[in-house]
Amino acid sequence: MRPIPYGRQDISEEDIQAVIEVLHSDWLTQGPAVEKFEQDFAGYCGAPYAVAVNSATSALHLACLALDLGPGDWLWTSPNTFVASANCARYCGANVDFVDIDPRTYNLSVTALEEKLRLAEKAGTLPKIVVPVHFSGQPCEMRAIKHLADRYNFRVIEDASHAVGACYLGSTVGNCRFSDVTVFSFHPVKILTTGEGGMVLTRDAELYQRLKQLRSHGVVRDSATLKRADQGAWYYEQHSLGYNFRITDIQCALGSSQLRRLQKMLARRRELAKRYDYMLTGLPLQTPWQSVDSTSAWHLYVVKMAPGINRRRIFDGMRSAGIGVNVHYIPVHTQPYYQSLGFKYGDFPEAEAYYAQAISLPIYSGLTEEDQDYVISNLHKLLT
Ligand SMILES: *Cc1c(COP(=O)(O)O)cnc(C)c1O
Repeated sequence: MRPIPYGRQDISEEDIQAVIEVLHSDWLTQGPAVEKFEQDFAGYCGAPYAVAVNSATSALHLACLALDLGPGDWLWTSPNTFVASANCARYCGANVDFVDIDPRTYNLSVTALEEKLRLAEKAGTLPKIVVPVHFSGQPCEMRAIKHLADRYNFRVIEDASHAVGACYLGSTVGNCRFSDVTVFSFHPVKILTTGEGGMVLTRDAELYQRLKQLRSHGVVRDSATLKRADQGAWYYEQHSLGYNFRITDIQCALGSSQLRRLQKMLARRRELAKRYDYMLTGLPLQTPWQSVDSTSAWHLYVVKMAPGINRRRIFDGMRSAGIGVNVHYIPVHTQPYYQSLGFKYGDFPEAEAYYAQAISLPIYSGLTEEDQDYVISNLHKLLT
């Protein structure tokens, strides 16, 4: 039996054809497939503006730059995330702090956020940006977070790397109704892939212009935005210190093609999640709790072992059976790099307690029922 990974891309013949078409065309990068993917994705999410980039890490960095994050500023995020959600602040020379998680959703806790903001206001250390991460594909309580953003005057970047196609209060994540910016990842383990890739969405026209400029060296060519007289058709100006965060047309053609199949892929993930919920009842573990306000995109299906269960034994047992279980996430504040900045074990106890017992089971649209049954029966064997 072939090993079963925890996540895997889903590539169709149409996807392959779409990529080949670009290879035959005049544009491999900065061409029409990039704009098409941006429009397709923005349309799907219900946001007016989208900027495609080469990764979600770049997307987060770009969003922080466009929101003027810099030395002396604070960015707060969840400790239960991939390191990129925090690193984006460090790239800008800003400070990072974390907000402990809600033990039900494993998302950043709004209660903890509120409490921390109250204290920070007194200390004069309010954050400039808060990055809620829609962990596993389940959206954070964005309405409450937006409320706090208005009260304490911070900007919000949703890290929706797990949440392509998730819904919150009846609309698609990415519409930026409760945030300044939303970013997505198109890494192959995520829900929709471009190989590597990311997207930044916003409703703010000015922010959109800044994002586009910073994506490509801070260079502008549009004669309306030039500071000096246009010197000819070759002329361009650099207005800020931007980067090369561009994505290729090859990748974007794959993205647009994948997007056409997204509903089907999401439906399959939801089906698999429901099946896990049902087939794992009775075992000494917690299946993922779901809020009535949202529909998860099911990037991850995380089970939390009951207290007293040796997570390592279950994890190793599953791996020995050829099942690519994983653990999401090692709390970011416990990483040696963040400990070197002063964070300690014990700083965010809910995230640490969750981490000690969590296992991510395989979930992806190509996972067959037979493979899923194999995962489930091995888990039963190890736990009973
Ligand atoms: C995958 C991921 C990222 C980084 O995405 P890349 O596209 O690989 O740069 C950032 N945040 C979260 C929560 C992720 O899961």
